[in-house]
Amino acid sequence: MYRADSHLHSLHSFDSTAPMEAQCEAACAAGMEEICFTEHFSVNPLVPTYGYLDRARYDADYATCRGAFAGRLRVYKGIELCEPHRYAERYRELFARGPVDAVVGSVHNVDNGKLRALVRDEGPDRACERYFSELRDMALRAEIDVAAHFDLVKRYIGAPFTEREVEHNLRVIGEILQILVERGIALELNGSTLGSLGQLMPCEEIVWLYAQKGGRLLTFGSDAHSPEKLGQGFAEAAALAKSCGFPGFYTYRARRPVFHPFEDE
Ligand SMILES: [Zn+2]
Ligand SMILES: [Zn+2]
Repeated sequence: MYRADSHLHSLHSFDSTAPMEAQCEAACAAGMEEICFTEHFSVNPLVPTYGYLDRARYDADYATCRGAFAGRLRVYKGIELCEPHRYAERYRELFARGPVDAVVGSVHNVDNGKLRALVRDEGPDRACERYFSELRDMALRAEIDVAAHFDLVKRYIGAPFTEREVEHNLRVIGEILQILVERGIALELNGSTLGSLGQLMPCEEIVWLYAQKGGRLLTFGSDAHSPEKLGQGFAEAAALAKSCGFPGFYTYRARRPVFHPFEDE
């Protein structure tokens, strides 16, 4: 099976110290054939990532890695935007001019406050409602290719999603998935909660609902901020996708989805 990790960070993100080369080496060691860096970026001065990414340095390091790993690893360059619906026009301008392979959209903050504080201050149920409401706004208005870590709020609740959480938020979850399908935005299967919660993001029921709604665009990402996490969750994501009837997964190149079937093993 083709192996690709479409969500990872390097020292170009405020919360990672990993050199890009080290991430590329780790990808080769993990048997990946393709990776896409998705460094954090925001134009909102109220969030921690603001002002951190030096796009010229990112471009230069990326070019070095592409050359150094040519023939061993396909390396692509993406971006992970915080709440991209809040500055949709600005991001559209920015990434129309400077080409990236994938624009990944994330809700890391609700009303400019971190999810950890939201869960602490409002409790898990209300935090879920507010998180999904923000995620629906993102799905409706942001110019993105991929929706990252769909049920991220569970990381801060500190527990996997069960049927209860899905049932409780079923209406809004269904609406968001429908919007993703209609707008051609991919759903990401993110492996970064596998170790801590024993569950991918999103949980199985949500992946299954996406399939029921006709969703086809799936990407797989470890969200690794350090080399030892690279590729985490790939096998589990592939197994879950297969069990929900997906014929394969996608990677993004020049903002276009490229299909990789599960059959070619
Ligand atoms: Zn994220
Ligand atoms: Zn990330």
